Amino acid sequence: ISPEAASETKLQDIDPSKLVLTRTSKPKPLKKAEDLVFGATFTDHMLTIEWDKTTGWHNPHIVPHQNLSLDPASCVFHYAFECFEGMKAYKDKAGQIRLFRPDRNMERFNKSAARIALPNFDSKALIDLVAKFAKLESRFIPEERGYSLYLRPTMIGTQKTLGVNPPGSALLYIIASPVGPYYPTGFKAVSLEATDYAVRAWPGGVGDKKLGANYAPCIVPQREAMSRGFQQNLWLFGEEEYVTEVGTMNFFVAIQNKQTGQKELITAPLDGTILEGVTRDSVLSLARERLAPEGWNIVERKLTMAELDEAATEGRLVEAFGAGTAAIVSPVRAISWKGKMVSCGLKDHEESGEITTKMKNWMEARQYGDEEHEWSYVC
Ligand code: PMP
Repeated sequence: ISPEAASETKLQDIDPSKLVLTRTSKPKPLKKAEDLVFGATFTDHMLTIEWDKTTGWHNPHIVPHQNLSLDPASCVFHYAFECFEGMKAYKDKAGQIRLFRPDRNMERFNKSAARIALPNFDSKALIDLVAKFAKLESRFIPEERGYSLYLRPTMIGTQKTLGVNPPGSALLYIIASPVGPYYPTGFKAVSLEATDYAVRAWPGGVGDKKLGANYAPCIVPQREAMSRGFQQNLWLFGEEEYVTEVGTMNFFVAIQNKQTGQKELITAPLDGTILEGVTRDSVLSLARERLAPEGWNIVERKLTMAELDEAATEGRLVEAFGAGTAAIVSPVRAISWKGKMVSCGLKDHEESGEITTKMKNWMEARQYGDEEHEWSYVC
């Protein structure tokens, strides 16, 4: 074992037993559930854990939600040493707080951090702290279906330097925002604009990591799509125009195979050009468990926009939806591509296809603990 490795093993990992709690003296009034706007209001507290390269992780703290104080030279501001996660805590019928597949978020958080030379940590230890934090903020989570506490674990490089180097210090913090149902009055199918003039991610790039730097460049194409009356943009890749993701969600399409006539639920493979969504993985797993026995083929493969258009034209496109933590699933009505509208299987009066609706219900049953399942982590 090299001296370098030996000194690394001495670094402290995150230790939940060392948590120091400083409660707020000014508890916030609760917003009316129906007034909640995604990510606009925050709970009373935040969790913070500092790291430096000689000590490792310091003691975790829960403190009142407050401003950070950082030197303007901090490397996060110059070279985008930032990564984050998005996950939710739900309240079940018995009033218990539940996280949904937090191990998946922590695994992805560690991968994102490692890719930008930020430190890794023991996933189990951070899940333990997230659980304590979510329980402390329990009063912010309405009991009703559709409501949850959105948790935003974030890691930034804090070293005060303009040198382009691995950060010698970092801060991990978690803030929390109570959120309501994405579609308060039931599903609303969205229309998309296929973006062919900009690329979100590419093989060998970092589009499969949850880095803040991946998100700012997506706003202009999204705003462009909105200016032409579409709710979101659909990211295509390459000359083949592979369908990759919709806005910040993974994309699923149900079609009937041209040759065999078999029903297929298709999503893009994890080839580095899409984010490894927790919802994507959950949808695939539920589909393999519950749709495959009904004769569906569940496939992770590349799908071109032309293939999707052909299926639509020939009446083989059954339905399409986005999948992500915020909305769970989001039905797609149509995609604007090369000046034409590709219709995604919904009748005019329909806002969601059958599979999309089933998936939402199946996912919620596990998120809210109606169905006891290993994906649900009781805090
Ligand atoms: N793709 C992108 C680009 C995203 O930002 C997200 C949201 N994290 C997703 C897909 C969906 O991932 P998840 O199901 O883990 O929320």
